[in-house]
Amino acid sequence: MSDCIFCKIINGDIPSQKVYEDELIYAFRDINPVAPVHILIIPKEHICCANELNDSHKELIGHIILTATKIAKAEGIAEDGYRLVNNCGENAGQTVFHIHFHLLAGEKFDRMV
Ligand code: AMP
Ligand code: ZN
Repeated sequence: MSDCIFCKIINGDIPSQKVYEDELIYAFRDINPVAPVHILIIPKEHICCANELNDSHKELIGHIILTATKIAKAEGIAEDGYRLVNNCGENAGQTVFHIHFHLLAGEKFDRMV
């Protein structure tokens, strides 16, 4: 998607602080962190949001979540704990419509649910 900022980050057209990359996914530090550790994990395929997922994405989503656990260990946040968040749609506050998972850690969060 030519006008998607996360597609541009994957392509290298917009700079980012890369944390992890493989053939399917890309992870980088959020430009406006809301926690001491705030990493975004995104698929290289442009998918707007969770509403657009289908059965063909099962492996991809599993891979994103498993990679999040590996990044958490590499970042040294696994023991203390972390939150993995996906915002889907306007009411959830999604602002970038390329599906992404926020990996948040480094402080104790209030419970939301
Ligand atoms: P959401 O509100 O769930 O759609 O999250 C979008 C996230 O993308 C926000 O936390 C933004 O701070 C982050 N973001 C937007 N542009 C960039 C960028 N160029 N580099 C890194 N993070 C970004
Ligand atoms: Zn995109």
